Amino acid sequence: MNHNRFRSPASRRMMSCACSLALLAGTAFLPACSSTTKTKVAPPGVTLAPQAAYAVVDGKEVAVPVIAMGSPKTVKKILELGKYDNQVMDHLTHLTTKIGPRLTGSTRNEQARQWAAEQFKSWGLVNVQQNVWGEIPTRFDRGPTHGTIFLKTERRNEDGTTSDPQENELRKMELTTLSWSAGTSGPVKGPVYKMPKDDAAYAAMKDKLKGAWILMDRPSREGMRGLRWQLGDDYRRRADARTRVADGSRKIEELPVLERMAYDGVAGYITASRDERVWTGAIPGWRDLDLSKLPTDVHVQVRMSDYDCLNSRIADGDNVTVEISAENNFVAGPIKCANVIAEIPGTKYPNEVIIMSGHIDSWDGPGSQGSTDNGTGTSVMMESARLLMAAGAKPERTIRFILWDGEEQGLLGSAAYVKQLQEAGTLETIVACFVDDGGTNYQGGIPAIATQRDLLAAATAPVNGQFYDTADNKPLNVNIEVVETLGTGGGSDHASFNRAGVPGFYWKEIGRADYGYGWHTQYDTLALAIPEYLMQSATCSAVTAYNLACAPERLPREIKKEGEQGSEERPRRNRGQQNSGS
Ligand SMILES: [Zn+2]
Repeated sequence: MNHNRFRSPASRRMMSCACSLALLAGTAFLPACSSTTKTKVAPPGVTLAPQAAYAVVDGKEVAVPVIAMGSPKTVKKILELGKYDNQVMDHLTHLTTKIGPRLTGSTRNEQARQWAAEQFKSWGLVNVQQNVWGEIPTRFDRGPTHGTIFLKTERRNEDGTTSDPQENELRKMELTTLSWSAGTSGPVKGPVYKMPKDDAAYAAMKDKLKGAWILMDRPSREGMRGLRWQLGDDYRRRADARTRVADGSRKIEELPVLERMAYDGVAGYITASRDERVWTGAIPGWRDLDLSKLPTDVHVQVRMSDYDCLNSRIADGDNVTVEISAENNFVAGPIKCANVIAEIPGTKYPNEVIIMSGHIDSWDGPGSQGSTDNGTGTSVMMESARLLMAAGAKPERTIRFILWDGEEQGLLGSAAYVKQLQEAGTLETIVACFVDDGGTNYQGGIPAIATQRDLLAAATAPVNGQFYDTADNKPLNVNIEVVETLGTGGGSDHASFNRAGVPGFYWKEIGRADYGYGWHTQYDTLALAIPEYLMQSATCSAVTAYNLACAPERLPREIKKEGEQGSEERPRRNRGQQNSGS
């Protein structure tokens, strides 16, 4: 999906005439091109001549509330740059293809943080720092992972005899293991048997188990959550069994079949997803991982079609083998983990701070580049910062960009940061924290309580109508959705602020991208990115931050009751719907 939509803005910038636009838009017509023409050429999704400014409140276009915001000249400059020199796709391309997925504590995560900090510095932001939020005991660096299914068949000759069995490659599998779990030492090839149903079945096959891969029953729970639970539960049961056998409190023969098999020299276990996505999560207890006691059991999760292939060949009595290689590397810590922070200091109220943020860490399953969760939010924040600097914005309040770390393991970076502020007595300085973590869709709205409505409507109004959706030509507007209370929950880093009484805003991301398709799976690659949406998001974040930083008053901070603003575990799968969390 959307594979043809991606064009690097880098290449776009190199081409500056109308004929390049025709090429990008895929049209056959090539107008005459003059290199001296200064006419502005709108990249796809950019409105050349937008109508007069309007705000959008509760889905309706309304007059912009009359509130003095940032300098109109600066806002205009931000919009110009955001539309005609937007580099968000350059950042995302680097992050996803040059660095790759960024598991918390991993080498790539560290590289990404250093790169982002250098970028912020190069654009002139100040107080750039790696804000250490904690340590983890073990670094996990995932190497190449692959798997292949082979079928051994005998050929029947015309004279009735059979020739020696021949092994043929049937198909490649797509697979993952939980992060911080054991991989293989090189490729491990072995026959595949189904998990024995009971003790008798187990006893009958015990002698064949050495070096075999065990095809587990389909997990009873479905989806990302169900699979992570199932694999995590199996991991824990085997780990507990190993501990009990080692300390003598349990005999191997007394263990249930699943745990007992770990002592039969099996190559590993194969669990099926319920569709073509394989989801990556962490083992239980990864935060206290003792390298010397790391369970060595290999457990992979494969696509449903891989499972179906294995299962039906076995049901037919075929001789099936798989070769699996999962290079899971561990480095003894402690490893310091950090959020990346960079600022544009306020000229008038430096101690009133607007935080604009996304998380830089990602899951690291094979195939994933950590693109839409949350390379997009990271790149949007970086471009937003660059746009403000390039436009020469001088906000009256401080704009602080933060790339959170450890989000995927439970908002670790943002929660620790809020605690740091509380301990330093400076939480009061934070006006609001905005989070972009809804994938590649555009910043289509934010919830606001009544007292925040006009400020947010005025702050976001300049962005309305500046970009349009190339799929349906509709403008990419920002809807201020008036709500009774801002929630205190949520599945992303805004929740850490909401819980502490600081308004945390999660951008409702709207558009044609199907967030759940890439979420925590092998499909989360650069190909999912939709440039026009990301350009809108970077521009919207820059304009909103600047305007709120120049507004005559702080955004009111009124958090009342418990409520949900998003949930990590429920990505909306339907196109065009907002997504929330993680
Ligand atoms: Zn996320």
